[in-house]
Amino acid sequence: MKKIAITGGKGGTGKSTVAVLLTNKFSKKGKKVILCDCDVECPNDYLLIGQKLKKPVKKIFAEFPELNKKKCQKCGLCAKTCQSNAIFLAPGKYPVFIKDLCSACGACWAVCPYKAIKAKKEEVGKIYLHKIKSSLYLITGVAKAGLEETGPVVTQLKEFALNFAKTIKADYVLFDTAAGIHCPVISALFGCDFAYAVTEPTPMGAYDLNLILDLCKKLKIPTKVIINQADLGDKKEIKKIARKFETKIVKEIPYSKKIVDAYSQGRLNKL
Ligand code: SF4
Ligand code: SF4
Repeated sequence: MKKIAITGGKGGTGKSTVAVLLTNKFSKKGKKVILCDCDVECPNDYLLIGQKLKKPVKKIFAEFPELNKKKCQKCGLCAKTCQSNAIFLAPGKYPVFIKDLCSACGACWAVCPYKAIKAKKEEVGKIYLHKIKSSLYLITGVAKAGLEETGPVVTQLKEFALNFAKTIKADYVLFDTAAGIHCPVISALFGCDFAYAVTEPTPMGAYDLNLILDLCKKLKIPTKVIINQADLGDKKEIKKIARKFETKIVKEIPYSKKIVDAYSQGRLNKL
């Protein structure tokens, strides 16, 4: 089973479109494919293929720290340990947990020598499963509205997708990541065999391509470039960046009214 990420530093380059088109391609070749939408803050693959999110198959939970002031000795070890700077500790005061920065890693309650931090379970997201046809499934993750740190949602979503892939003996799992290079993107890329970085021939596209190729290099994920709407701009800078990272541009997709129509009508899977 191959795990492929469809990613891109910049939003709006057509990453989800490419993810669906690739899924179609594998499925037409008779392969069993799962498309997993890891853009959990704003998933849209389901809209592109005319589906609705109705009943989740699973809820996603994460554990967040809760302080027991009676036990806390204000030693500060939890604040020193937290790698996300999610614990503020003023001299002589109790630690304050900043939930928006917390990645629910559990380090603080593991290190507290006085067992003053309790893990409190909270729902952080939902998973939806659609069978599009016998050889094609869509798995969608949706993070709870307002949740700042969505990396743990993506990690659990991927775990679900990979377990499901094993049960149906899938040939490919495609992970459509969020745009950017932040924590949820890293969580989606982590453990993938291969990535396609989708970009567009614009100065911003080139700038963000540089960032995502650098991230993939650091994560040691072999990556190839796909240029979307390749005939609508200047590809010089994109080619320069691909050369810099010794990465191949494997596909140039020209602007296509047919694709735009299918995209806006939610029938991209019919192409
Ligand atoms: S490590 Fe435990 S005892 Fe020390 S400040 Fe943090 S919560 Fe309090
Ligand atoms: S769970 Fe992890 S990220 Fe959250 S406050 Fe504790 S150490 Fe920091």
